[in-house]
Amino acid sequence: MGKLTGTQVQELHRDHVLQSWGKAGQMAIPVAKAEGIYLYDYEGNKYADMSSLLVCTNLGHDNKEIVAALKEQADWMSFMAPSYATEAKSVLAKKLVDLAGPSFRRVFFTNSGAESNENAIKMARMVTGRTKIFSCYRSYHGATLGASNASGDARRFAAELGGANGFVKFMNPHMYQDGYTRGVDDEVCTNNYLKALEQQIRYEGPNQIAAILMESIVGANGVILPPEGYMEGVRALCDKYGILLIMDEVMAGFYRTGTAFGWQHFDLVPDMITFAKGVTNAYVPLGGVIVNEQISSYFEENVLQCGLTYSGHTLACAVGNACVDYYEAHNIGAHVVEMEAILKDFMETMVEKHACVGEARCIGLFSAFEMVKDKENRVSLVDYNEPNTAMPAIMNQLKEKGFIAFNRDNYVSICPPLTITKEELAEYLPIVDEVFTWVDETLI
Ligand code: PMP
Repeated sequence: MGKLTGTQVQELHRDHVLQSWGKAGQMAIPVAKAEGIYLYDYEGNKYADMSSLLVCTNLGHDNKEIVAALKEQADWMSFMAPSYATEAKSVLAKKLVDLAGPSFRRVFFTNSGAESNENAIKMARMVTGRTKIFSCYRSYHGATLGASNASGDARRFAAELGGANGFVKFMNPHMYQDGYTRGVDDEVCTNNYLKALEQQIRYEGPNQIAAILMESIVGANGVILPPEGYMEGVRALCDKYGILLIMDEVMAGFYRTGTAFGWQHFDLVPDMITFAKGVTNAYVPLGGVIVNEQISSYFEENVLQCGLTYSGHTLACAVGNACVDYYEAHNIGAHVVEMEAILKDFMETMVEKHACVGEARCIGLFSAFEMVKDKENRVSLVDYNEPNTAMPAIMNQLKEKGFIAFNRDNYVSICPPLTITKEELAEYLPIVDEVFTWVDETLI
């Protein structure tokens, strides 16, 4: 336990910390303890963390095996620069390549999701000699300059002020929100979305496009599930025009969706995989880019013009090894599939019961409710880019009942640690039902 009171911690935070994506000077919950799926404040109030914080503590809080691996590595050797080989880094690189499958060969380590995408973009440009990066409007890839410019949601606007060359956005499918898909067969929709993308590729000049960067399952923009065949169609367009496919697995990776990586739900293999978050259960920062044989061999002949002092940090890699081992030893993927069935059932009931819930989407323990004010006409509860008071009110109601969810725009996302039990789901999901009743009665 620390030396300060909860109030002292809160006040120091308020006065001296610049808050990510928020105004400085706000009060934040002072967290005294985190254990399993729970967070506790200094007064002993308990919150079920149904967000895995920013969808990153996939194995929950205070996992003793992972903490032990961190301590053991710190006692042995805490840091070695990237040009040195360490057991922790070499072993983790091999494990990640094996997890990704036979076409993958090497890993470039970073410290975050944004850095992973940033470096994947640089590599794609070096390997192809092309500049343009295609990415989706409904996406988030990180807050550094390149990753931010590749991101599609409104968080990119501040980065765009300074400009960055070669970022082109396309509209990825959102079957619920894109009104023209209503009542139309998935197959027809898929073909239409792909035709539009191909036209855009042709107008942008295929020989100028280095890569398409996509989340396998769009996360922070609302757990969007693509129509059948769409992702495979994007892969086919990449093959047709010699474009690399970079799959951002920062949020969807490490069993969040039930499989090691989200793209494993589709019949395709990307050229590069970017990862972070779940690789270390967020206990220490680590990310990276897993590259296929072709890209790997390019960098046998050419110098990789990428480098970070902390690339392959020894402590982080030791934690990465412990996490990958844990996911496998505890068969986390199978557990996620079991819990997914319970969550999906509950979510479907909520759609039937509540006027404020337009749709529910769930894959693994990655899920989102689409909150609406007019269900018949699919009108969102909040206007995109407009000041939004309804969603903070919903999040606050949930929090006061001890339930922390993940939210952006008009989505309430439930993404608990993958270790959650069915008893914990049964105890906490009814809170969502209660709060949605309150939304039906007071907000719409
Ligand atoms: N990609 C995706 C899909 C993400 O969800 C995020 C973070 N939420 C990032 C990249 C950026 O990761 P980081 O915040 O570690 O830079």
